[in-house]
Amino acid sequence: MSISLIPDQLCRVYGDVTASWLQQRGIRLLLCDLDFTLAPKSILRPDAAVFAWIESMKAAGITVMILSNNRSSKRVELFCRELGIAYVGHAGKPAPRGYRQAMAKVGVTERETAMLGDKLLTDVLGAKRSGVLSLMVEPAGGPRTAWQKVLHALQAPFKKLAKGEIR
Ligand SMILES: [Mg+2]
Repeated sequence: MSISLIPDQLCRVYGDVTASWLQQRGIRLLLCDLDFTLAPKSILRPDAAVFAWIESMKAAGITVMILSNNRSSKRVELFCRELGIAYVGHAGKPAPRGYRQAMAKVGVTERETAMLGDKLLTDVLGAKRSGVLSLMVEPAGGPRTAWQKVLHALQAPFKKLAKGEIR
């Protein structure tokens, strides 16, 4: 079986993904990366925009859960506690284990699940391996370090092949 590295949809910022867009596609669980997806790594707490976005999802009956590979779950725990959402820490992306754990917890199928993240080799690849919709976002705050710039350049050709863009 071959696994594609091409994201299903691209977006500029997490906020481009709206509850109505997800509802139209039958998505009930939105798995979400934390670092450089909802906030740059240096930002410890969710800002008002993240709060409002999470509230709009809750109001629409869409569960948002953080799927993070962070070595320490302290940051993820604090961020999620403030938002009142659940998380899977040490998710081991791109292994499907964390994705499946989250889906089982919420009681949804792969077709009812999407993953939003900024990295091809963890977030997107894991989504592909798990059979869920993959949504790829530009890194929050933009690529800053040398490594982020390299990563950004390496990901670019795959992003060009994405099936669509959420605007
Ligand atoms: Mg990330």
